[in-house]
Amino acid sequence: MPVTNLWLLEAGHCTHPEFTVIEGGSRKHVRFPATVAVIEHSSLGVFLFDTGYSPRFHEQTRKLPEKLYALTTPVFVRPEETALHQLKAKGIRERDISHVILSHFHADHVAGVADFSHSTYVYQGIGYDAVSGLSSLGRTRAGFLAGLLPDDFNLRSRKLGADSLKTGVGIAPFGSGWDITGDGSIVLVDLPGHTKGHSGLLVQAPEGVTYFLVADACWTSRAYREMRMPHPITALIMDSRSRYRQTLEELQTLSARRPDVRIVPCHCSEAQTSIQPLSARAATA
Ligand SMILES: [Zn+2]
Repeated sequence: MPVTNLWLLEAGHCTHPEFTVIEGGSRKHVRFPATVAVIEHSSLGVFLFDTGYSPRFHEQTRKLPEKLYALTTPVFVRPEETALHQLKAKGIRERDISHVILSHFHADHVAGVADFSHSTYVYQGIGYDAVSGLSSLGRTRAGFLAGLLPDDFNLRSRKLGADSLKTGVGIAPFGSGWDITGDGSIVLVDLPGHTKGHSGLLVQAPEGVTYFLVADACWTSRAYREMRMPHPITALIMDSRSRYRQTLEELQTLSARRPDVRIVPCHCSEAQTSIQPLSARAATA
């Protein structure tokens, strides 16, 4: 198996009232971890799926209009909670990270991107194009903070789109995706609705286990199991509520047809516990 290990780390978190992310939820503020998937490949190095928060989020939201983002989303992240810091503690150096795959450009997914200066960034080009040309207020409304990205972000990007070859993914109703590694072990799959170009990652892990990391296609596993949409207020940051619903329905169909596929939303504490690293890494720092 090309993928030798898959594990998750939590790089900071935010809080929101539960009812905003799931229909019928309480007014209680709930903690949403910003999860980073670490995928170790036998010949191509270490891949990250998203990067979580970093203290850079607070630096980039000191002034208006970006400050509005921090005011509406309380974010908690300490320097030792960044993905880079936690990887180092596990003996993984920055230059070991060959690729950083991005599900979309909300700050909780890209705030750590600039920490990985040796990596190739992989994502759907339409996702970046949709936010990069906006005014600073437009970007803030879209949940995108341009200052989080390094200056050479474009130069080191591998953008996927309509002109890139796709392959069948074998998890109907999802049809096809972009084979990142060329061996079918890590495949990017379009999950539209949350943002333009929002993507999930299908990973063939050791021992025949298939993981579908679905990023923000839903905030919790309960949402697709019980078909509960988020509050209409989330339409403010959403590309298409009807397309989001369709993706959620497709995830429900997939989970019914293929209970062997482990669906892991980025911010779901329950799903996080379904992934245990196959080989515990000893700290070498
Ligand atoms: Zn998002």
